[in-house]
Amino acid sequence: MTSQERAYFDWNATTPLREAARQAWTGALAVPGNPSSVHAEGRAAHRLVEEAREAVARLAGAARANVIFTSSGTEANALALSPSIETAGEKRARDRLFISAIEHASVRAGGRFARDAIEDLPVDADGRLDLAALAQALTQAARPLVSVMLANNEAGVIQPVAEAAALVHAAGGLLHVDAVQAAGRIPCDIGALGADLMTLSAHKIGGPKGVGALIKGSDDIHFAEPLIRGGGQERGLRAGTENVAGIAAFGAAAAAARVQAREESAAMLVLRNRLEMELRAITPRAVIFGEGAPRLPNTTLFALPGMKAETAVIAFDLEGVAVSSGAACSSGKVQPSHVLAAMSVSPALTQAAVRVSLGWETTEADLLRFLDAWRKLGTALSKGHGIAA
Ligand code: PLP
Repeated sequence: MTSQERAYFDWNATTPLREAARQAWTGALAVPGNPSSVHAEGRAAHRLVEEAREAVARLAGAARANVIFTSSGTEANALALSPSIETAGEKRARDRLFISAIEHASVRAGGRFARDAIEDLPVDADGRLDLAALAQALTQAARPLVSVMLANNEAGVIQPVAEAAALVHAAGGLLHVDAVQAAGRIPCDIGALGADLMTLSAHKIGGPKGVGALIKGSDDIHFAEPLIRGGGQERGLRAGTENVAGIAAFGAAAAAARVQAREESAAMLVLRNRLEMELRAITPRAVIFGEGAPRLPNTTLFALPGMKAETAVIAFDLEGVAVSSGAACSSGKVQPSHVLAAMSVSPALTQAAVRVSLGWETTEADLLRFLDAWRKLGTALSKGHGIAA
């Protein structure tokens, strides 16, 4: 972020609004109609929603009609995780839900599955899904639904989704992929990944907060039970007058991300790799989580033994640097990260984990500011004072 005052390194929590999204948003606010109305004002609002649907579909490589707008990534996950998903060949309810142990809280909540129908799938020490455990789990269900994220929000580790899809489909199952953190950073073509359902969230790709989408990989996926009943919007799956301005801005962000992601990600990767190299040079005892696995180009989750993450986040903040201790939604809670626990990281080291995440506006000046702050904090800690627990 090109601010002299602050360096923002919390892009996995949320990104700033892209300029194209801001313009689409303010433009849409001037359209007074309800997209369900038949008059000209209504048709204009409807058009904005449908143009956005097309842009989001293109980002995910899906058909426009298979995009369902929701109020968030969280809501899209809640809609996806339903026993009532039907296909032409299978009308009976999904009997079990398997989720990786590192999923976002909105997936871990299990949607509309009963608690005792939900099972965790383990990950290895680098945070990658254990495919052998998935294959074994699939033998225990007749009509499984599996949910595996494309990239983890804390460590940035990219999951073997296409491999998981092959196993799931061979077992007669369906695969949901939470691509909220992956979108705009790595390719997330729903067909190439083999996903049946995919979740996106606008505010992680430069759109506004409070808009998301669930995307179907084919026309053959149906929800027998809507998430919200009412006026029948979003093909009856999600009633409620559409957030027209938010959706229009989501569409603009998706269009920009589709065109710019490759270049943006390459630039982020250069900065992120330099950040890790220098972090190590300053504090050789620093541990970078998930290092042995493919990771998002923008994320570093690291710890220095003895450090207390919440204290470090405050110390960074005072130096003008915004970082986070693990996932944003669990900041402030004393609970240790379930992601690092699943990666078999010790509770002591888990408490020291700080997440640094970059974005398309991150500059070299931001990086230098981060490194200056770390030089002070990390060195103080290495000498046994400053930000120790
Ligand atoms: N899934 C992942 C992986 C996330 O990181 C987040 C947000 O942090 C969500 C889902 C939820 O998205 P939203 O904030 O739009 O509810």
